[in-house]
Amino acid sequence: MSDYLARLNPAQREAVEAVDGPVLVLAGAGTGKTRVLTTRFAHILLSKRAFPNQILAVTFTNKAAREMRERVATLLDRPAEGLWLGTFHALAARMLRRYAERVERTSNFSILDPDDQLRLLKQVMEARRMDTKRFTPQGLMGTIQRWKDRAMLPDAVPREQDVDWGAESARDLYAAYQERLRALNAVDFGDLLLLATDLLKRDPEVLAHYHRRFRYILVDEYQDTNLVQYYWLRLLAQQSKNICCVGDDDQSIYSWRGAEIENILRFEADFPGAKIVRLEANYRSTAPILAAASGLIAHNEGRLGKTLHPGRENAEGDNVEVMAFWDSDEESRAVSTRIEALRRENHKLAECAVLVRAGFQTRAFEERFIAIGLPYRIIGGLRFYERAEIRDAIAYLRVLVQPADDLAFERIVNVPKRGLGETALRAMHERARADAVPLAEAAARIAAEATLRGKAREGLRDLLVKCANWRTALKHDGHVATLATLLDESGYIAMWQEQKTPDAAGRIENLKELVRALADFDTLEGFLEHVSLVMDNDNEINDDKVFLMTLHAAKGLEFDTVFLPGWEEGVFPNQRSLDEGGAKSLEEERRLAYVGITRAKQRAIISHCANRRIYANWQSSVPSRFIEELPAEFITLGGSASLAREQRLAAPPVFATATPLLARREAAPLLNQREADSWNTPSRPARADKLTEGTRVFHQKFGYGVVLDADDDRLDIRFETAGEKRVLDRFVERA
Ligand code: ATP
Ligand code: MG
Repeated sequence: MSDYLARLNPAQREAVEAVDGPVLVLAGAGTGKTRVLTTRFAHILLSKRAFPNQILAVTFTNKAAREMRERVATLLDRPAEGLWLGTFHALAARMLRRYAERVERTSNFSILDPDDQLRLLKQVMEARRMDTKRFTPQGLMGTIQRWKDRAMLPDAVPREQDVDWGAESARDLYAAYQERLRALNAVDFGDLLLLATDLLKRDPEVLAHYHRRFRYILVDEYQDTNLVQYYWLRLLAQQSKNICCVGDDDQSIYSWRGAEIENILRFEADFPGAKIVRLEANYRSTAPILAAASGLIAHNEGRLGKTLHPGRENAEGDNVEVMAFWDSDEESRAVSTRIEALRRENHKLAECAVLVRAGFQTRAFEERFIAIGLPYRIIGGLRFYERAEIRDAIAYLRVLVQPADDLAFERIVNVPKRGLGETALRAMHERARADAVPLAEAAARIAAEATLRGKAREGLRDLLVKCANWRTALKHDGHVATLATLLDESGYIAMWQEQKTPDAAGRIENLKELVRALADFDTLEGFLEHVSLVMDNDNEINDDKVFLMTLHAAKGLEFDTVFLPGWEEGVFPNQRSLDEGGAKSLEEERRLAYVGITRAKQRAIISHCANRRIYANWQSSVPSRFIEELPAEFITLGGSASLAREQRLAAPPVFATATPLLARREAAPLLNQREADSWNTPSRPARADKLTEGTRVFHQKFGYGVVLDADDDRLDIRFETAGEKRVLDRFVERA
């Protein structure tokens, strides 16, 4: 038997060797579905059934596509080129470019990003004199996207599914929007599959071409396909019927994007006689990790149900750890300490992943990793302080502190929209140059005179007045309250709230997290300095980095050690799924938890915090229901878990009204003993041995230096090589 087949178990081999005819592999996490698919790819090539470009292989993310390409190259022992291997979107785009003229485009058509899509739809609505404040383009876009996910062009939308949008019909607006896209030689993201599927459906020549080309079709993460993707696959496979889909209903986590689990059931109906293969041995995780994950997912009702048992030769391992922490600072500290300990035992950083439910959670980890110089990378997203909404908010703060900061002023002057067009902006710049004054001052001058008219003038005046007010507020109410006020009064939060996309909700969470972050600093200046330090930290050339990403982005991946922080009600399961109240959205959250735990090969460490800051106040939080659902015999409790329990009983929340920093210091003595038990990390919310002027110290990142000034827990230090810096005392040691 060939080497590559010998690396499979009998069930996997069966799935690989059944090359002709439809095959569906339905199996739990880590059972080797992706391995089956890549081996099948190689097997088809090595048994000379097809050339590399005659196989269509669909993966869910670009990262997965890259991995698959590498796996195939290793198996074949040569680079894999010219493959039809990628995400649904990438593959459909490739087809459309080839046959662009048949979808009324030229082959260089552009693919609009979400911003452009909205702008275009808004233009369509405004051309019909619609009130886009009352009937938002965002809402309509959601409807259109759902139709596209369900493979419906405007004509195909049934009357009874049409809705009124103001005085118009949504379907008519959809048709007008499609017409505009065509006129612009553009498509939007949803069009890629929609138009490709439509083309295959109505053009026998194109269909025949692809039937000849694709002798074999392979699909990974099948549980997350939506209807239009399904039709596309069905059309392509309908002749050869050589289609192999692998998936796991327990890992279906994209229903909010239109994925339909029913596609699994449809497969059996559309491809009668399909071979169904079940894989039951999990080769990824230790037995306790597997048992914990299986116990959790058993709480879902809508399951096809399957058995899983450990398949690894060496499946013993430690229980899943469930750690309770005081707050997210302690949590990130403990995670980083643990990672450093693993590193000392020669574990690779790139075998550690921190998987979060929501983007805002990365901040605490990023700051901690930066503070101690632990290399990390964020997958499928930007680093916290690089995100557009955070940069905008910080630009507002910079304008308050430093009115001459032109870059910052320029960034926010028309965000949210204040009716300043090209002309107004140009006038501002010209005036600034002519009078040799900062932009903000020039803006004040042209707003005072009659240079500007109408909306633009009002908008500018309003902003300048508000800026003055916020500066006053800064003195009286402090920086934390001022940022909260500013985000509200500037209309910035409202701007995102109006966008009812999932993406917008994440941005609002990030902004709230920013307000929380600010509370860690005594002054706004101190915070801004910190941000510039953090931003300046990305010049390392080092590939061994800790992975930091959302659970959604982690699908299909695996790591030796997986940290799963923030398992608290309202964070995970997230608030939206609780508010909607349906068992369905809760089950999807649970599947996400299952995906998270099953990423771990050796170690899974779940944690939750007893307190979270909501704006400037502390609120006690309740451990996630998912923690209680984990089978007790496979978990080990750690940290100050018992404390969390007491806390849950102790209403009202301990620090709801206290000053945050103060509250935390008062709590420190109570914590230290328990913290010391957790992972042997004596954490130091405040240090006992005060470092005074003249003390020689060592800092992980900046090296040796001498304390110039000590202001509570902030130290001004002159470092030997890094110059003068202000740092928190807990990040330095006595040298
Ligand atoms: P997921 O549901 O998370 O996508 P999967 O079913 O695709 O998981 P794979 O990623 O293919 O699983 O495999 C999980 C791990 O098990 C990989 O490290 C893979 O190399 C290993 N593996 C798979 N099959 C075998 C086998 N027969 N013997 C040894 N190791 C295996
Ligand atoms: Mg997989």
